[in-house]
Amino acid sequence: SIVLEARDIRYRYPRGQEAIRGISFHFRRGEKIALVGPNGAGKSTLLQMFNGMIRPDSGMMLFDNRPMEYDRASLRELRRKVGFVLQNPDRQIIAPTVYQDVAFGPTNLGYSEAEVRESVTTALRHVGLAGFERRPPHQLSGGEKKRVAIAGVLAMDPDVLVFDEPTSGLDPSGSEDLMELLDELNHEGKTIVISTHDVELAYPWADRVILLADGQIIKEDIPDVAFGNT
Ligand code: ADP
Ligand code: ADP
Repeated sequence: SIVLEARDIRYRYPRGQEAIRGISFHFRRGEKIALVGPNGAGKSTLLQMFNGMIRPDSGMMLFDNRPMEYDRASLRELRRKVGFVLQNPDRQIIAPTVYQDVAFGPTNLGYSEAEVRESVTTALRHVGLAGFERRPPHQLSGGEKKRVAIAGVLAMDPDVLVFDEPTSGLDPSGSEDLMELLDELNHEGKTIVISTHDVELAYPWADRVILLADGQIIKEDIPDVAFGNT
């Protein structure tokens, strides 16, 4: 079944050029998708349409086969179902302790204290940070901060996880661990979308690759075909 769909979407930044120029795609539930393209191709702009942070000027975004709506209540629901992990965890981590940071989302959703505790504990265990509850995030390594940010998203149990340049700032072994974590989450049924300029990263990982350039899709296929190895 299709979880996210775009129909001929376009977007121009105020006082900017057209960043997205007529894009259509659909993502199936459980897929691993890589958006690949050089800087300026439109990757982060496109990602921000997945949970309603940016609304296309024309065309349509759909979640679960329903057109996205942009009122407060719909956006709140959309942001729960489509979790976003930013490139720089320092921009995502806001609380003085790991526990409070991961608890922020579920608390905002109105979970009871017991439910918050349960979701935080589960999310931290999931990303390998059980026992980090009382630590101040600013003392953690880059890879650990990234995991805190991921736990914060997982605590809301989204259907889709979106990662902007997931391994940015991580060393090779940290990157490998992170991609393994993405695979684990995928095996549990999450649809995962990453953006990257790194073909080497996307190639072995993705079920499907979308090559973006200049605000348009130039190719969309399995990695072997998209990267021209067959
Ligand atoms: P990528 O993530 O692939 O590097 P972006 O989505 O960031 O690409 O950028 C796509 C295009 O939109 C680029 O031409 C970029 O300069 C422009 N752009 C991005 N953000 C803004 C902004 N806030 N205001 C104006 N133009 C922007
Ligand atoms: P109280 O002990 O008064 O119920 P909490 O334990 O809920 O207070 O919160 C005190 C601080 O301990 C929180 O700010 C949070 O950083 C941390 N904390 C809360 N719950 C946990 C937990 N399950 N494991 C570890 N640290 C926690």
